[in-house]
Amino acid sequence: MSFERLRILLLGSMAIGILTSPRAWIDSVEANQPFNPEAQEVCPTPVLSRLKPHRIAPGDTLESIARQYKLIPATLLGMNPILQRRPIPIGQEILIPPHNGIRVDIPPGRSWQEVVRAYNARPDVVFEMNGCQTQPIALFLPGVNWAPKGPPTVAVLVLPGYPLPQPTTIQMGYGWQLNPVSGRVIFHSGLDLTATVGTPVLSVGVGKIAFAGEREGYGKLVVVNHGSGKQTRYAHLDSIGVKLGQSVKLGDILGTVGTTGQPDTDQPHLHFEIRYNSDLGWIAEDPNPYVQAKR
Ligand SMILES: [Zn+2]
Repeated sequence: MSFERLRILLLGSMAIGILTSPRAWIDSVEANQPFNPEAQEVCPTPVLSRLKPHRIAPGDTLESIARQYKLIPATLLGMNPILQRRPIPIGQEILIPPHNGIRVDIPPGRSWQEVVRAYNARPDVVFEMNGCQTQPIALFLPGVNWAPKGPPTVAVLVLPGYPLPQPTTIQMGYGWQLNPVSGRVIFHSGLDLTATVGTPVLSVGVGKIAFAGEREGYGKLVVVNHGSGKQTRYAHLDSIGVKLGQSVKLGDILGTVGTTGQPDTDQPHLHFEIRYNSDLGWIAEDPNPYVQAKR
C-alpha cells in the first residue's frame, strides 16, 4: 500500500470525525459497564479493552510494526494518528488491536446499529466483538479497509462492470462472518453472489489474466489484474474460458458459475473479490460499494 493511499484513507476517516485519541477510546469503553449480564458469559472482552501498548523503538517503521503484529498499516494509522508524523516519533507509545479494523465513535443521538449499517458490517459479529454492550459510546469494526457508504470513488470508475449478466442477491457478505455449521467466526474475503451453474461470469473492467486454473479452496479460479493496483477474483467456477496473460475488456466472459473448491454455502454462487496492491500483498476489500453502485 502506498503512503499516499494511506493518507487518503486517513483523511477520509477524519472527514467523518471518527478518530479520537486511543486513551479516550479505552476510557469510554471501560466507563460503559455493565455489560448485558446474560451475554457476559459468551461474549469476549471488548476488542478495544484488549489493545496492547507498543513503544516505538529506533528502526521501527509503520510497515515493520504492522508486520510484527500481522496487521495492515491502515489499521495502525487509524488507531494511532501520531504515526502520520515523519519521521515516526521514537519512544512514543501506540496501541495495537488484536485484529484489523477501525474505531468508530457513535455520534450523539445515533444508535450503534445505525453506524454498523452505514459501514455494511454484520451487526451480530460487531455486537459480540464489542463485548455485547447494548449502548456503546464507540465501536471496533473488524475487517480491513472499511469505508462508509458514500459517492462512488475513483476505484469504482476503474471497475465499472458487474461480474454477472444481471444484479443478484448476496448470499454471504464481506468481512467477519459467523459460520453457522462450525460456529466459528471466519473472515470472508469477498461476496457470494447467487447464480445458477453455467451462468456466464464477466470481467468487471479492462485488465490482464493473472491466474486461470485450480487453487485450493477457490476451486476453478480466474484472477484479473486491472490498472491502479486493483485485482478481481472469480472463484468456484464450473469452466474457465481465458488463459494466463490474456488481455480482457469490460464484460468479456471469463468462465461460468460452478461449485468447485470449497464454497461457503450449498447454494450455487459466484465468489467475487476485489483486492488492492499493498506492501503486504494483495489485500481484500469490501466489494459491496462497487456492486451497489451498479444497481
Ligand atoms: Zn465465498
